[in-house]
Amino acid sequence: MSVTRLNTDDRQLKTKDMKTIKVKLGARSYNIFIASGLLKELGRLLGNYGNFTKVLILTDKNIEKFYGPIVAENLSTYKPKVVALEPGEGQKNLSTVESLYHKFLEHGIDRKSLIVAVGGGVVGDIAGYAAATFMRGIPYVQVPTTMVAQVDSSIGGKTAVNLPEGKNLVGCFYQPRAVFIDTETLKTLPVGEVTEGMVEVIKYGVIRDPSLFSFLEEHLAGVLRLEQWHIERLITSCCKIKAWVVSKDEREETGFRSILNYGHTLGHALEALGGYKGYRHGQAVAMGMILATKIAMRMGLAGEYLLGQQKGLLSRVGAPTDYNIEEVKQAFELLYRDKKAIGGRLRFVLPVKIGKVILRDVSPEVIKEIL
Ligand code: ADP
Ligand code: ZN
Repeated sequence: MSVTRLNTDDRQLKTKDMKTIKVKLGARSYNIFIASGLLKELGRLLGNYGNFTKVLILTDKNIEKFYGPIVAENLSTYKPKVVALEPGEGQKNLSTVESLYHKFLEHGIDRKSLIVAVGGGVVGDIAGYAAATFMRGIPYVQVPTTMVAQVDSSIGGKTAVNLPEGKNLVGCFYQPRAVFIDTETLKTLPVGEVTEGMVEVIKYGVIRDPSLFSFLEEHLAGVLRLEQWHIERLITSCCKIKAWVVSKDEREETGFRSILNYGHTLGHALEALGGYKGYRHGQAVAMGMILATKIAMRMGLAGEYLLGQQKGLLSRVGAPTDYNIEEVKQAFELLYRDKKAIGGRLRFVLPVKIGKVILRDVSPEVIKEIL
């Protein structure tokens, strides 16, 4: 993973500063481009990726309203077909994917074509899975438009759809050819979506980046006003961490990639408990971070100060800083029932200090004591 300014050739494409981060995965390596206003450069940037016979833009109807015209116009030389899904997680299923395959065929999409996913995590996950499976894999790029997608889900090649039995149960690892992040698109996001993203941003600070964490403490007001240099700075930091982690453990085989799951063990269980209609992902993860920190404190790995630091930032972004003990107890019952526990112990990502986490198996006794 490395960060470079674009060379002069690229500057002809884009006069404004653009950050480039490389996700190093051998033959599957790719770049993440970050800039405010990048959507206007998409066509020209894609020109560096070869000649695609056909281009299909996949998005959802909310995003199409804001960005459909600019993206379609920018890619007009490719005469792109735009497919706009109904918004929301409800679309993330196999029947949507099947209907996409039919659209691909109708539009003559083949292995020399390109799928351009413009949207949040839902669009990105569906597009990635459809691209991975259609004709045994066709190229796709990610153009994330939510904060969660810009700092997390568009990078790393995890694609998936849901089954009635659970979330993300069908999917595969399939890396995009590139990720194009236009930080300006965040300006039209509903406020709640910014909170969702900010929880993940705080998570990155805790697991790996003390300077990101202190940047947030100092500049949060500017960040929440979506001032572009603040946003570009924090998205770049998060993408660097994500790119680095993915480069080291692309398929979550060594366990290293699981540091990204800080706060997510309990978080996922709380979401599932509410049938995904209760807490939002970011809220549940915030509670999970608090609980993980309390576990770390109980095990003598962290001090009270670390809890206060995280609570401070979480509350300022509008995320929860505490949990309901009864709900957490039920969530643990679910985790044990789902056999997420190995030998009766659950594996947790535990914070030691800002910028450092470790993986530990936690016994049910420790959890009981905390609750
Ligand atoms: P996530 O990235 O958190 O998984 P989704 O893909 O479900 O989120 O997107 C969340 C919601 O925000 C959806 O309703 C989507 O249509 C909408 N949305 C995504 N990006 C934008 C944007 N840039 N401006 C306005 N609304 C957006
Ligand atoms: Zn998450």
